[in-house]
Amino acid sequence: MKRILLLGGVGDALRIARRLGPAHIYSLAGLGKVPSDLRCQVRVGGFGGAAGLASFIRAQGISLLLDITHPYAAQISRNAAQAAEDAGIPCWALRRPGWQPGPQDDWRTVNDWDELSLALHAFQRPFFTLGREPLQHLDTIPAGQFWTIRMLDEHPGNARARVIGNRGPFSLDEERDLFAAGNFDVLISKNSGGDATEAKLQVARERSLPVLILARPELPEVDRTFVSCDALWQALPDGLG
Ligand code: NAP
Repeated sequence: MKRILLLGGVGDALRIARRLGPAHIYSLAGLGKVPSDLRCQVRVGGFGGAAGLASFIRAQGISLLLDITHPYAAQISRNAAQAAEDAGIPCWALRRPGWQPGPQDDWRTVNDWDELSLALHAFQRPFFTLGREPLQHLDTIPAGQFWTIRMLDEHPGNARARVIGNRGPFSLDEERDLFAAGNFDVLISKNSGGDATEAKLQVARERSLPVLILARPELPEVDRTFVSCDALWQALPDGLG
């Protein structure tokens, strides 16, 4: 009988976790909501790097590690690959394909915050959908810019920034209203892939807005990769429920 450790923190992982029975463990970093209605075990918080994760795998008798973390959560994915190798078990990962620009899109890739802040000079009303990182720069927003930052939790803004705490998925109509009310002139996004937060890109297209895309991090090689949650579930043995 396989015992699975599922590393999660995104909707796809929760979809798999809902199908797992009490022998299996669903692990979360602790940033978002912790579900209380699952049949599998749920644990929250870091393991203490790859070595801590390998010890956990051995201590719990885990026989398969599933990495279904966010494509930008590169540290835990590196730890997962290393720990599985050290513990001698396979690691399977969901590697969600990125979004692709269409012919009418003006997407510009930036590799880090420095490149992003240079590219931002041309704009006045950026809309950030990168998570928490812009909060570190609230005190250095140039005069003449007003930032809107959307992230999971509420946070105070200031005279040059508004922070919106909201969790996706976001509908096309919600995004259209937000872009119109905020009068944004540029969207800043990760290339997360999936459909939960894709509507903002459609609205940027409709409004002919440029999109500054933070480049995806390199992720490690693992034993098997899947591009969809369904494909991964179908590859798992029967009887996990
Ligand atoms: P990260 O930089 O790759 O990981 C930082 C540390 O957080 C890891 O070294 C690990 O601590 C702990 N950690 C991360 N995921 C964990 C999990 N599922 N179970 C237990 N510990 C975990 O990750 P991040 O970018 O901060 O993201 C944290 C979580 O939020 C991930 O689960 C990710 O799927 C989710 N998330 C991230 C993003 C994003 O854009 N980065 C977006 C949506 C959701 P130890 O080294 O101590 O084990």
